[in-house]
Amino acid sequence: MKVLVIFGPPGAGKGTQANLLAKNKKLLHVSTGELLRKEIKDKTATGKKVEKILNTGHYVTDEIIIKIIKNYLDKQKNKDLILDGFPRTLKQAKELFEIKKDIEVIHLVAHEEELEGRLLKRAKIEGRTDDTPKVIKERFKIYESQTKPVLTFFKKNKVKCIDVDGVGKIEKIQKEILKLV
Ligand code: AMP
Repeated sequence: MKVLVIFGPPGAGKGTQANLLAKNKKLLHVSTGELLRKEIKDKTATGKKVEKILNTGHYVTDEIIIKIIKNYLDKQKNKDLILDGFPRTLKQAKELFEIKKDIEVIHLVAHEEELEGRLLKRAKIEGRTDDTPKVIKERFKIYESQTKPVLTFFKKNKVKCIDVDGVGKIEKIQKEILKLV
């Protein structure tokens, strides 16, 4: 089982690119954000616990997210995956590295100013409750402090990390990714 991880700041296009890549390379697209939003929609116990957290742009606890992802992966044995939105903390990265060694990371590189505009646009289209200006700022701060170190961890552990320019046309970025993975 091969695991691709799509990595990058909020609004870098992780979901969009992961979706296309899943289709192009016949991978299973696993988005932890989507899994959480489904829990909320289905009003499960976990959903009730995490709803407020998602609305503030903060991360749900490692314990909750690791449990969700492990449960999910247990049911999807041996499928090649693209992980979108996981791992987001060092603890999550170490946990993933324990279970799977065949990991490759695609890092979508883009700057905050470009991404803020994108996220505000997405708020209008998708109506996501965590895409308000205040929450967006918070999500960037959290990304810098908690998620960026994950990339350093992977590099230190000799995981292949590929930088891809995340600014430009969706199709062009996808082509670039397909060339590199
Ligand atoms: P996303 O759709 O990937 O932007 O995720 C939306 C929200 O879900 C995030 O802002 C977090 O509140 C939560 N979330 C998703 N994945 C994780 C994760 N790996 N660790 C902690 N929280 C997460």
